[in-house]
Amino acid sequence: MHSLLIGKLSVGLRMQILDGKKAAQAIKDELRIDVAQRANEGKKIPHLAAVLVGNNGASETYVAAKVKACEETGFKSTLIRLDADISEYKLLEVIEELNTDTDVDGILVQLPLPKHIDDKKVINAIHPDKDVDGFHPVSVGKMVEGIPSYIPATPYGIMLLLEHYKIETKGKHAVVIGRSNIVGRPMSILLSGNSNPGNCTVTICHSHTKNLKEICLQGDIIVAALGIPEFVKGDMVKEGAVVIDVGITRVQDSTRKSGFRLKGDVDFEAVAPHCSWITPVPGGVGPMTIAALMKNTFNSCAAKN
Ligand code: NAD
Repeated sequence: MHSLLIGKLSVGLRMQILDGKKAAQAIKDELRIDVAQRANEGKKIPHLAAVLVGNNGASETYVAAKVKACEETGFKSTLIRLDADISEYKLLEVIEELNTDTDVDGILVQLPLPKHIDDKKVINAIHPDKDVDGFHPVSVGKMVEGIPSYIPATPYGIMLLLEHYKIETKGKHAVVIGRSNIVGRPMSILLSGNSNPGNCTVTICHSHTKNLKEICLQGDIIVAALGIPEFVKGDMVKEGAVVIDVGITRVQDSTRKSGFRLKGDVDFEAVAPHCSWITPVPGGVGPMTIAALMKNTFNSCAAKN
């Protein structure tokens, strides 16, 4: 549906698509060459270990996509599946084994975890040197200080996407909707940093923000990461804005074999005509998140070997 709409809108309008699939492919292609070169030189190739607890459908899909990306780029991957009722203690033991396994460069624990497990405890148990998801407090602290570190994959992917399409961010007003530790908050830090992309004036909004529509209307760049399908409407976006849709929600769709389809946090059809650039869902931020994870894992391997 998007491609039809995109075709229609492209005629006579300047709206362009930030194609995450294409940009992610370019990053993975580069990584594949770098990995092949390492292999030729007899150096270690990157190894990502993914831990999946339970059988949540969305988590299964995300982990499968990450394992596939490893195959495409020539990385080694290990998928560790654990029962939903595994104890927190046992899970921490698994993490410790991966921490001490010298062949493993990056560890990712797919979130969310079952309710009886404290995800903060699990994240904190990952050795900072292998924290390729960038959620460990050491990684977060370094990111805030501007010290090179693992940046959380989704905000890092968005920065790479802005870089890929040479979107000017300096001096722009960025409105970030959502303040989670994995998307909104790190996004606001990165966009406000003295970097390129970056150097934005950032407003971070959340569930208690008043006058959200007025704030969004001031945004040259809007990053929507709240998890409410089609929350951002056409009348919330100023002409020429760059809109990044992070949201992924499965909504029921009986016409699909899967029984659902993915919806972003932005009402694409209503918002797109106002934008200079916009990400689609799917095919926008999602693939970039995976590309960023691959980059973090490659860097971990290269730094240690
Ligand atoms: P979260 O539930 O942890 O955080 C949501 C944030 O939105 C909160 O900070 C909350 O204050 C804010 N919020 C909620 N209702 C609001 C409202 N009415 N107005 C303003 N702010 C409001 O979610 P998250 O983990 O940050 O994820 C957000 C969305 O992004 C979800 O749809 C998730 O599936 C998606 N996501 C996508 C990727 C990807 O790779 N594309 C990665 C991570 C998350």
